[in-house]
Amino acid sequence: MRAALITGGASGIGAAAARRFAARGMRVVLVDRDEERGVAVAAEVDGRFVAADVGSLAGNERAVRAAVEEFGRVDVVLLNAGVPGRCGLADFTEESYRDTMRTNVDGVVYGLHACLPQLRGQGGGSVVVTASLAGLTGSPDLFYATSKYALVGLVRSAAPHLAADGVRINALCPGLVGTPIIAGFRPALEKAGLRIADPAEAAAAVETIAAGGGTGGAWVVQAGRPASLVPVP
Ligand code: NAD
Repeated sequence: MRAALITGGASGIGAAAARRFAARGMRVVLVDRDEERGVAVAAEVDGRFVAADVGSLAGNERAVRAAVEEFGRVDVVLLNAGVPGRCGLADFTEESYRDTMRTNVDGVVYGLHACLPQLRGQGGGSVVVTASLAGLTGSPDLFYATSKYALVGLVRSAAPHLAADGVRINALCPGLVGTPIIAGFRPALEKAGLRIADPAEAAAAVETIAAGGGTGGAWVVQAGRPASLVPVP
């Protein structure tokens, strides 16, 4: 039976991906620092929950170990946990800046490092990294955009190193998705006429990317336009 490991799986896009993979008969391991919601989503999808902060390498390694203990293999890894920017240039503090980079960049680098021995050892697998449209276009939330550009760069740069081992890696670059991360400014976005995707649309994109043949791509997905899922050169 195929298995998926999903960071940030307690909410939003990660939880929607867990539901989608489970509906396809895959086993799911959710990793999140929100234990209460993580346990609830895991129960819903008959999966396993691992409480961990992705900003710690040990936490990521523990999650991969748990997935392999439980299901014997990991076919898809969705490195998805993320937070918004906590400061800009005007209100910069080292702590706020590091908080964003620690989850959004360190968390993905550590997650990738932690899962590679397993993926290589089993003959391959598919890694999807949740970046953002902001990682291709920039954003007023500039350190969020900085972190997401880093992820697109990581994916494009790592892909050739992993291909020989049968490991594919791609970036999901969603526009706005209706999850708690945007809840605070959703009314303003809607007032401005911006389209907001359902988390299930993003989850469908994750499934397509994970199953597809390519590697090193940055895939844009936007509300109501599943056909706009295109690799950006
Ligand atoms: P969300 O807030 O619903 O989910 C994020 C999850 O990540 C939460 O469950 C949270 O507890 C978890 N998390 C955060 N930091 C963590 C850490 N250090 N360790 C473990 N877990 C941690 O938001 P979402 O929209 O589902 O976000 C998922 C990803 O999608 C993020 O990387 C986000 O940047 C990206 N994204 C979201 C949108 C959007 O509009 N919602 C657009 C583009 C990209």
